[in-house]
Amino acid sequence: MTAYPFTDRGDPTEVTLYMDEAPGVEHPGCIYRAEVIPELDCFYCRHCGRNGRISGAWFTDLLMASQAPTPGSEIADLTAQLAEAIELLRHPNEHDVAVFLKRVTP
Ligand SMILES: [Zn+2]
Repeated sequence: MTAYPFTDRGDPTEVTLYMDEAPGVEHPGCIYRAEVIPELDCFYCRHCGRNGRISGAWFTDLLMASQAPTPGSEIADLTAQLAEAIELLRHPNEHDVAVFLKRVTP
């Protein structure tokens, strides 16, 4: 479980962002995690009504990093091949396409 303590600038107290299967912000005086709304740079708890400030860009970066495929995994290899195929489509070159297809086609 990855925890990121930070200061809520809206109501200066220490809170903690957790990035696991249910990302959210744990805040003093409540047992629930607040939901992050990155578009509004805030987090909100439906149980106690806490409305705090968080960087939506920071949260989104952490979320994307937590969802990135594990290097060396099959999905990471396929993602790399897809990126390479997209690049080939941008700059079509018969030789490079042939080499790519020979490498990725079983
Ligand atoms: Zn709460």
